[in-house]
Amino acid sequence: MREAAALATRHVGGDLAARDHGLVWHPYAPLNGPVPYAVSSASGVRLSLECPDDSSAEVVDAMASWWCAVHGYRHPVLDAAAHRQIDDFSHVMFGGLTHEPAVELAERLVAMAPGPMAHVFFADSGSVSVEVALKLTLQYQAATGSPGRQRFLTIRGGYHGDTFAAMSVCDPVDGMHSAFPGVLASHVFAPRPPMATVDADGVWSTDETAFVQWAADFRALAEVHARELAAVVVEPVLQGAGGMRPYDPRCLQVMREVADEHGVLLVADEIATGFGRTGRLFACEWADVAPDVMCVGKALTGGYLSLAAVLMSSRVGAAITESSFGALLHGPTFMANPLACAVASASLDLLRDSWSQNVSRVDAGLRAGLSAALKLDSVVGVRTVGAVGVIQLGGPVDVPAVTAAAVRNGVWVRPFRDLVYTMPPYVCTDEDVAIICAGMVAAVREVHG
Ligand SMILES: *Cc1c(COP(=O)(O)O)cnc(C)c1O
Repeated sequence: MREAAALATRHVGGDLAARDHGLVWHPYAPLNGPVPYAVSSASGVRLSLECPDDSSAEVVDAMASWWCAVHGYRHPVLDAAAHRQIDDFSHVMFGGLTHEPAVELAERLVAMAPGPMAHVFFADSGSVSVEVALKLTLQYQAATGSPGRQRFLTIRGGYHGDTFAAMSVCDPVDGMHSAFPGVLASHVFAPRPPMATVDADGVWSTDETAFVQWAADFRALAEVHARELAAVVVEPVLQGAGGMRPYDPRCLQVMREVADEHGVLLVADEIATGFGRTGRLFACEWADVAPDVMCVGKALTGGYLSLAAVLMSSRVGAAITESSFGALLHGPTFMANPLACAVASASLDLLRDSWSQNVSRVDAGLRAGLSAALKLDSVVGVRTVGAVGVIQLGGPVDVPAVTAAAVRNGVWVRPFRDLVYTMPPYVCTDEDVAIICAGMVAAVREVHG
């Protein structure tokens, strides 16, 4: 009773963060977790914040809103695309209907994707696109005479989303498997590929012995499980939320070869890596590998609206269509939301003209700016790949303290585990990137030494 009364009184007056606290769930947080910062406005690469201590701050968004807002906020081209579409229609069902924004976006996606992608399924979030991708590989296997192939092969350290099938292929230790014993399907986990580095010219280095060993282990594991596998599911070249770990593109080539040898599909989860983030338009391009199925999301709409897509080859599409299923068995209510599709096409236009130069520039700025962190006692490593910069500490980050220190230094970060990292908007100027790097280094130094 007292708790209910306390929750109720929070609705009356008080500032926004206080009204939020205890009422609205935040990602991976308890109801009584740290009081959130309130955003009063966002423009370009900057957020205006009301802080828990009642101060306000303007910060450079080093997170690009969880890696999505690659063009920054209130971009005039994206705002105009959204306005235009709202004046037409915001949403219609996709069952039995179609519309220009969906068809145009699908045409663009298949044209830009690595390999011969022929078909597009629009989903409403990254996790749902992973569900659809996994489901369609099962349908493919059943359609081509292998209904018993129902397991997935992946690598440890992965992250593919929070819905149940997606969770089941996340890292079995660091993911949330232990919270749902008996509920998640059990899949096959190969070791993590050895961590690799890539220099400013795009040349990768990895420990050769470790690579050879990993490839042998991966092949051996696939061999053991070959007849029960439907697909290899993997984040190409950079594992994101599982630990911000780049790995040698040759590992992806090994996965492609193994998939082909065993009649298994290769699903590339490009939700984090797609649209230029790693320094290639899609991370698969580092390995010159064409997946059979590819998920994109996050930056797809430039961070404006929730939208994801599953792309697939004609072989996969044809097998499902010609099977006794006769259909891909999925159909979200908000499938191919016209508003999201229209903004996504506008975002792809902006990317086409600018992503490559911008990502190289941000890459150079991160390399120069984050190296200062190597001098700190608490830091064990610094790494960058494309527009991704990571400071790794020797132990867990004090997230609220580092967040507050970064805000005081003019930067918004959201650290996790032992990592303080940035995946900034591509449109950051050199000065913005320098502010991000200096703010990250200062925050780590102030809190962890
Ligand atoms: C974020 C992410 C997802 C999940 O996307 P949501 O839109 O949060 O559901 C899946 N895979 C990867 C690689 C991601 O980074």
